[in-house]
Amino acid sequence: MTSPAPAYAVPQPEVIALPVTGSASLFPVRRIYCVGRNYVEHIREMKEGDERDPPFFFQKPRDAIVMSGATIPYPVGTADFQHEIELVIAIGKGGRAIRGAHALDHVYGYAIGIDLTRRDRQVDMRKRMLPWEAGKAFDRSAPCGPVHLAALVGHRLDGAITLSVNGRERQRGDLSQMIWNVPEIVAKLSEDYTIEAGDIIMTGTPAGVGPVVPGDEMTGAIDGLGKISIVIGKGEA
Ligand code: MN
Repeated sequence: MTSPAPAYAVPQPEVIALPVTGSASLFPVRRIYCVGRNYVEHIREMKEGDERDPPFFFQKPRDAIVMSGATIPYPVGTADFQHEIELVIAIGKGGRAIRGAHALDHVYGYAIGIDLTRRDRQVDMRKRMLPWEAGKAFDRSAPCGPVHLAALVGHRLDGAITLSVNGRERQRGDLSQMIWNVPEIVAKLSEDYTIEAGDIIMTGTPAGVGPVVPGDEMTGAIDGLGKISIVIGKGEA
C-alpha cells in the first residue's frame, strides 16, 4: 500500500540546482558557504584583519543563486553594490572533521561565482558588531555558473581568476594566491559543520572589488571553468 503524497500548507520551496557541464544531470544546492577573507591583497584593500587569521565562514541562502546570463535588478537598501569574483567548490560527498589529505575526495567540481555585496550595509553591520546578512545574504546575491566536474577539469589549485565590468578588467588574481587553498577550506569548514553533497563554498575574492550600477555587465572568468556574465538592471521596485 502506498502512502498518500503529503499535503503542504503553502507551496513547497523550489529545488535550486546548477547545470553540470557536459551532463544532463543538475547539481542540487543545499547550502552556500562563503569564506570571509582569503587573498592578502583584498584584506589590505579592505583594511581589515590579520593576514594569518584562520578563515571564517558565513552563509547565503540557496535561493540567492542566479544563473549566468541573467539580468538582475539593482537591489534595494544600498548605494554601494559591489562585485567579488570567487572560485566555487561544489561538494559531492558529505563528512565532518575531514582531514586535508582526504578533502579533495569530497569535491565534486568547481564553478565561477560572484559574491554580490551591499558594501555599505556590510561595513555598517561590521562596525556595530552585528551579523552580515543585510550586506551579504540578500535576494539574488549569489550568481553562479555551471558546475564543472573535477574528474574532467582537474582540481582548481592555480590559474587566473578575473572580473571585468563592461569589458574593462577590475579584478585579477591567481587561485594559487588563496591564503587557504581548496583542501584546507573543506577541512576547516567541516570542523564546525557537517558538510553534505550539494553544499557549495565560495572561496573568497582577489583585490579589485568595486561598485556596479544599472546597465553594467559583469564578466567573470577562471582558467578551465569558462566565463559567466551578469547584467545589472534598473532598481528593484
Ligand atoms: Mn566574498
